[in-house]
Amino acid sequence: MTKLLYLENWNQLSCSATIQEVATYQDKPAIVLDQTVFYAQGGGQPADNGTITGPNGSFQVEAVRFDSGIVYHMGQITGELKTGDTVICAVEPTRRALHCRLHSGGHLLDMAIYELGLGWVPGKGYHFPEGPYVEYAGTLVGGDKEKIKTDIEKICAKLIAADTKTSIIFMPKEKMHEVCRHVPDYLPEGKPARVVMYGDFGVPCGGTHVNSLGEIKTLTIRKIRQDGANIRVAYDVSR
Ligand SMILES: [Zn+2]
Repeated sequence: MTKLLYLENWNQLSCSATIQEVATYQDKPAIVLDQTVFYAQGGGQPADNGTITGPNGSFQVEAVRFDSGIVYHMGQITGELKTGDTVICAVEPTRRALHCRLHSGGHLLDMAIYELGLGWVPGKGYHFPEGPYVEYAGTLVGGDKEKIKTDIEKICAKLIAADTKTSIIFMPKEKMHEVCRHVPDYLPEGKPARVVMYGDFGVPCGGTHVNSLGEIKTLTIRKIRQDGANIRVAYDVSR
């Protein structure tokens, strides 16, 4: 099992680690470590990039995957890296910061939609820089899309101005409903169960987040549309 350091502190962007295996994953060179600060793609958030540097070589991390408790850092080796090497991991900070702001933007959207009392149930989130959106189970019938869009943006602006802080609580899945408005049926296996609190608004989530909502600066709604049984709310944060 790879220890996931970002779960306890997403502000830690570098660490020392020991190579467990120089492997191949999905036909690409892959490094397995005892612990990592690199976020593996999942929960709608893209993976980190960065470098892993050893005594006789280095590794450019281009993709990161989590599989059955193991994190595979995929990319290109320069020089030599071998099992047992002590290495330094360094996450590329600019890309990570954008991912945090986009991901937390999705949760900010949840908070605004909850405050509006629309009764939409959060589902899939896609927080990639290319076209971020969140899907909600619900219906738009009779709703004034333009008014909803403006109302959401107003509440988001209010919450950003309040600069609400985030914090982490590890707790069993069965207890999450006590602090979360919505707990999805499916939570990933093989990772510690974690709730991120936005003030008193809890979300079960293993991603990386902003430290306070002010970091998002602005959230805008790009589009709201009905897609089958779901409402897709496309958003963006200031870049
Ligand atoms: Zn999340």
